[in-house]
Amino acid sequence: MQDPHAPTADDHPKEECGVAGVYSPGQDAARVAFFSLFALQHRGQESAGIAVGDGSRVRMHKDMGLVSQVFNEEILRGLPGHVAVGHTRYSTTGASVLRNAQPIFCQSLVGDIAVAHNGNLINTAELRAEMEAKGVRFDGSSDSEIIARLIVENIDQGPEKAVALAMERLKGAYSCVVCTPRVLVGFRDPNGVRPLVAGTMGEDGYLIASETCAFAPVAATPLRELEPGEIVVVDEQGMRFARGLPTVRPSMCLFEFIYFARPDSRIYGRLLYGVRERMGENLAREHPVDADVVVPVPDSGIPAALGYSRVSGIPYREGMMKSRYIHRTFIQPDQRLRELGVRMKLTPMAEHLEGKRVVLVDDSIVRATTTKQIVRLLFESGATEVHVRITAPPIMFPCFYGIDMCSKGELAAARMTIPQICEHLGATSLGYLSIHGAVAAVGQPANRFCLACFNGDYPIPVPPGLEKHAFEKPPDVGQMAAVAKDQLSLDL
Ligand code: SF4
Repeated sequence: MQDPHAPTADDHPKEECGVAGVYSPGQDAARVAFFSLFALQHRGQESAGIAVGDGSRVRMHKDMGLVSQVFNEEILRGLPGHVAVGHTRYSTTGASVLRNAQPIFCQSLVGDIAVAHNGNLINTAELRAEMEAKGVRFDGSSDSEIIARLIVENIDQGPEKAVALAMERLKGAYSCVVCTPRVLVGFRDPNGVRPLVAGTMGEDGYLIASETCAFAPVAATPLRELEPGEIVVVDEQGMRFARGLPTVRPSMCLFEFIYFARPDSRIYGRLLYGVRERMGENLAREHPVDADVVVPVPDSGIPAALGYSRVSGIPYREGMMKSRYIHRTFIQPDQRLRELGVRMKLTPMAEHLEGKRVVLVDDSIVRATTTKQIVRLLFESGATEVHVRITAPPIMFPCFYGIDMCSKGELAAARMTIPQICEHLGATSLGYLSIHGAVAAVGQPANRFCLACFNGDYPIPVPPGLEKHAFEKPPDVGQMAAVAKDQLSLDL
């Protein structure tokens, strides 16, 4: 059995979840949820599930694996109903086992509910201890189960009120969808860290999903993003919006724009493909270089590489092919095999690289493991220089709002200076886009984003237990050199 937590060849930060909520009187809600989840698969590949309300009860199916592995025709036929919530998961809180897969199903005397959550709570331990002291029993270890059990506590007051009361207790990032046998509800934390969009589907159907890319495959139309702290309710009366909590400080995750969300999705009204092209353009302005060819790390680096090429005037060319069918390389967690994993996933095209001074454009550097291997591949394929250009500013601090980036000690930019990272990568030069350059590419004021992993300014205060890693002082220069040297000798 493959270990879902084994380190993979992919050194990107990991998004943890995609959610979809469907209200479809004339259709099979489970089938609509399935196709919406399919479009959200990039947000989590470890487990998938759909819960369906048929007017009198809620049924659910969930399992470990990709959406296409978890569901088939027969399973979908066994989930009849007009209201559904679906979920794809990459675990952050709670081990990645089936009992933590979502949706989370809860029974109550007045009816069942199912909840799908994207984000991460920061008061999980406190809430769980409090609820256990009151006799609440938990099946799993995820923060999402706490949300579900808080809602079900007050479900006799109706789903909207139950959600509003739960929101008063929750701290952290949450974009959620909930279904009862008859009603669909969506809600978003007062900082709006994770995206959530509501829209219509045909005459009398509705869809609520993490990203707009989930709408087109089911012929739905995005209406608008939920505001931070907002609730949306869909029932036989139609769709209505209500205020759950006042907006605190809009703090949409900047990484959604840089890497997580699909390039054909829109956030803050901006098509992310265009945002990423503009990030590449700004990168070329901030870090120009004399070179022969601009090469993206496929696929996520493509729009930014096109932008870099446009502004610099250096021709764009694909320099390596990505294997489309290795979704994730489950390789045993040792360094040598991890390096092999990159080669399995990316095949350089020497004819495009030989004798060339290459600008290599990628979205982010976390541990620097993957980038280092790609730089080496390019040199082995005949590149004479490799200038690495990155659209995410240096990641210095961990994320507590639902993104798995590894611990602070493993973050390359937290333990090395930029020249040291460049040396570690074996690159000719290294340039990161500034926070200003990344935010300007979106075209919104900087105070509308969470930038915590770049600048340590956490929009939702992190409690001391969690804070420990976030606020460790960076090592002094002497220590940094020692760490860099250790890392070099380990990796080479
Ligand atoms: S800390 Fe970074 S990854 Fe986490 S929500 Fe903020 S910007 Fe996004």
